[in-house]
Amino acid sequence: MNAQEIKTDYHMHSTFSVDGQDTIETLCWRALALGLTEIAITEHAEWHPQWHAGAPAFDDYFEEINRLRSEFGPRGLTLYSGVELGNPHEFQAQARELVGRYPFDVRLASLHWLYGENIHDASCFAGREPLDVYADYFSAVGHMAAESSNIDVIAHFDRILWRGTLLGAAFRPQSLESIIRDTLATIAWRGLALELNTKLLNLNPGWRSALVTMLQWYHEEGGRRVVVNSDAHRASQIGANLEQARLALSEAGLQPATLQSALSLA
Ligand SMILES: [Zn+2]
Ligand SMILES: [Zn+2]
Repeated sequence: MNAQEIKTDYHMHSTFSVDGQDTIETLCWRALALGLTEIAITEHAEWHPQWHAGAPAFDDYFEEINRLRSEFGPRGLTLYSGVELGNPHEFQAQARELVGRYPFDVRLASLHWLYGENIHDASCFAGREPLDVYADYFSAVGHMAAESSNIDVIAHFDRILWRGTLLGAAFRPQSLESIIRDTLATIAWRGLALELNTKLLNLNPGWRSALVTMLQWYHEEGGRRVVVNSDAHRASQIGANLEQARLALSEAGLQPATLQSALSLA
């Protein structure tokens, strides 16, 4: 296996998301140019009161997805629909209504909110011990995996480490091993896929060795399904850091999965 063999990407945002910069069509052209064969456009769905926009116009979104499927399918690019649900275990009724109303091919679940704060913000750490924040975050990801219905993939399960690392808070996964293993085991037994998010894999300082350790634990807990996703918010971010992703997976003894294999193994 080499990086060129990762030809799928099931997490990216178009202008249907408030923070997406490029149209679905532009994302498709870029993916095709990079030699990808399958992508999913996963727009944000958030119900947290701090989120600054409502749900995307999913009727228009599906119209566009269907139009582009017939455009790009014959060129060798399969286009999947999708959604990224923020804290779906805390907004069960809304999440159930949305995924019941639209035929999403892939439903990502993301822990975006902790203590009522966005996990990307420093306010999440304010007045708290970093180790407590990490413990609460990984435990909340476990609750999300256990309690959400109608989800397929746990997205960017390590994202809290971005802000923590920026704040200089060291992270040794061994100090939270039982919590993190519980969460990874839950993801495995629920038959969900784990996302290896490539967006921040090139950061220095980063948390590479911690990530590899956690992927190894996922493997040891019975997890096999890892999807490698960019979380691109613009076309130029598609395909980033695939070599780092390939290396991390192979060190953990894991193979990248396709959506079909990840979702049909259950
Ligand atoms: Zn996210
Ligand atoms: Zn995203």
